[in-house]
Amino acid sequence: MDTWKKRTKAVHAGTRRSQYGEVSEAVFLTQGFVYPSAEAAEARFENLCADEFIYARYGNPTVRMFEDRMAMLLGYEDAFACTSGMAAVSGALMAFLKAGDHVVSSRALFGSCLYVLEDIIARFGVEVTLVDGTDNAAWDAAIRPETTVVFLESISNPTLEVVDLRHVVKASHAVGAKVVVDDAMATPIYSYAAECGADIAVVSTTKHVDGQGRMLGGLIAGSRDLIRGPIEAYLKHTGGAMNPFTAWTHLKSLETLDLRVGQQSATAMAIADALDGHPKLNTVRYPNHAAHPQCDLARSQCETGGTVLAIDVKGGKDACFTFLNALNLFTISNNFADAKSIVTHPATTTHQRLPQDQKDTLGITGGLVRISAGLEDAGDLIDDLIAALDAI
Ligand SMILES: *Cc1c(COP(=O)(O)O)cnc(C)c1O
Repeated sequence: MDTWKKRTKAVHAGTRRSQYGEVSEAVFLTQGFVYPSAEAAEARFENLCADEFIYARYGNPTVRMFEDRMAMLLGYEDAFACTSGMAAVSGALMAFLKAGDHVVSSRALFGSCLYVLEDIIARFGVEVTLVDGTDNAAWDAAIRPETTVVFLESISNPTLEVVDLRHVVKASHAVGAKVVVDDAMATPIYSYAAECGADIAVVSTTKHVDGQGRMLGGLIAGSRDLIRGPIEAYLKHTGGAMNPFTAWTHLKSLETLDLRVGQQSATAMAIADALDGHPKLNTVRYPNHAAHPQCDLARSQCETGGTVLAIDVKGGKDACFTFLNALNLFTISNNFADAKSIVTHPATTTHQRLPQDQKDTLGITGGLVRISAGLEDAGDLIDDLIAALDAI
């Protein structure tokens, strides 16, 4: 299995078959498991062997299949599946931190990640330093001997900043800090967190894994020691484990992950090409596109730029709302990676809570639109965007 290419792993890795030899993965929709005797129950609680289960909050065969498949896909030894991406982010941080610790994080983060760092973790006596993630010198200056965890989004949501992951890993490991990467935007099929040496990759599986706007899920991947040690201990006792039905739909979705992400990434690039230089736009941003200020770094880390791009519409919020309301094919929503193309206005939705000065620092302007490229025809999507820009 280790020599399989990612596309093969996405279809087959981690499969467990019951005594019936089913072709499609079985969903074990059960909270618990029966023991053949009182002695067997005692033995299982004393020493849980591989392929034995006690309670679905601790583990379940369908969920374990999903964890094994994702771990192999991401290039890690093991993984723990969670109820949502945020259960995974907060679980990965809480499992490692204690009062007096120091965390360094990039400032350009998903709104809820910023809340966990600034409002929750900080309440427990953990000091948090936020840096400009695109500035290697800023990481070097902020990471210090007391730093225990370094957190970042490999590609930031929604401004699509790219972090030099190898540099940050080297600086972090020099002081013994663990690197936790929120890998939602990089996509599980093109993730480079493991090859760059990140200790933990956290994925919101709500995004590309489900990819069809149905299921909320998350996953933490890392070494077996970390996953079956502090991560599992924290999550199984605090109740963050994924339910088996979600794991089953995710397993089926993984079969088409490579096809979907490949197509959606090509469409995102085609949209960036078509909109680049449009007179009604200040900027067009897509990581691997020549117009992105960090294009060389993005290309050196990953062969695609993901399924999301961002544009900044001239004329601020009013012009931007005219554009959004004139779209026919794109829906206004706040997910991304869905088969249906979606536009999001971060300043008034996902990042509404941020004070104006923080929005200014992050570049979350009134004109910023996050565009998630779906599985529709790229030409139809481009026509819709151009017509809506004409409406301004
Ligand atoms: C969506 C997202 C999350 C949260 O995931 P949920 O599944 O919605 O809880 C965390 N980080 C990033 C970068 C995301 O895009």
